[in-house]
Amino acid sequence: MPPSDPIDLGEKDKNVLAAWRLMFEKEYLAEIIDLKGLEMSVFGFEVQHEVLARDNFLNTEFHLDPARTLSIGNKVLKEQFDQNGVLARPVIRVVNLSENYHRTMEELRMRDRDQLLTVDVKMAHVFHPYGWLKTAVYQCKDCDLVKEVQQRRARQRESPSVCKVCLQKSLEGIETLNLPLTNFYPRPNFRMLTDECYYEDVQDVSMHQITYNTDHHLIQCNSSFELIGTLSDDLVGEVEPSTFMRVNGILRVQPIPTRTFAKDTRRLLSIDVLSVEPLPIKENK
Ligand SMILES: [Zn+2]
Repeated sequence: MPPSDPIDLGEKDKNVLAAWRLMFEKEYLAEIIDLKGLEMSVFGFEVQHEVLARDNFLNTEFHLDPARTLSIGNKVLKEQFDQNGVLARPVIRVVNLSENYHRTMEELRMRDRDQLLTVDVKMAHVFHPYGWLKTAVYQCKDCDLVKEVQQRRARQRESPSVCKVCLQKSLEGIETLNLPLTNFYPRPNFRMLTDECYYEDVQDVSMHQITYNTDHHLIQCNSSFELIGTLSDDLVGEVEPSTFMRVNGILRVQPIPTRTFAKDTRRLLSIDVLSVEPLPIKENK
């Protein structure tokens, strides 16, 4: 095995990890044991927001940085799956977000980016699934150090700059105190290990805002405005067009897909979908 860059969890991340572990052991162990023998590549595991919110610290972290908090939670749940003989990669799907997250599409603004939210929608269009390079794996051509770089969807691929181990080696024995840095250009020297890279399945959907009364009778579906949502993993292929859904997700800012020049500064809002819940809406036909 080539040496790999250790993932250094900070103090806060360690606490997030411990909080998830406690929650799964206390609240969901029976459910996990019930899944024993399950042979699926990926499994969406529903966690009630109310249960998560019982832990103040976990609730705050989920509110402030939902993507990172969930990614740590997925690692903890994978560990629990492994311990209980569940042969699947779990993806936490937090459902029933509390009411303070409920929003309408029309009121969303750029300043709300990266916030958690819940919208009630009609699925207008479901696009073809596609994949994207989520984690690229690189290896230093000199010392074989392996480095993972998390990528962003629909952005330029990022690669590591300089190998710290090799840089350290180059500087050893050199008097660095007054080294004129302007004449010193360490260059990246990595190759991408394409077989080791992680690709994620995703699917875009376009959504229209709906309003309905307390009996779930549809009052209005606003087709004048639509928002794109991106489903991933187990949710790909699970959503049908024209269905009514409660969508929980993170508001994101994306470049315009049809931009005509590379440095176009215009941006669109979209939602990275964390979970979907079917709504029993009745349409008056
Ligand atoms: Zn190196």
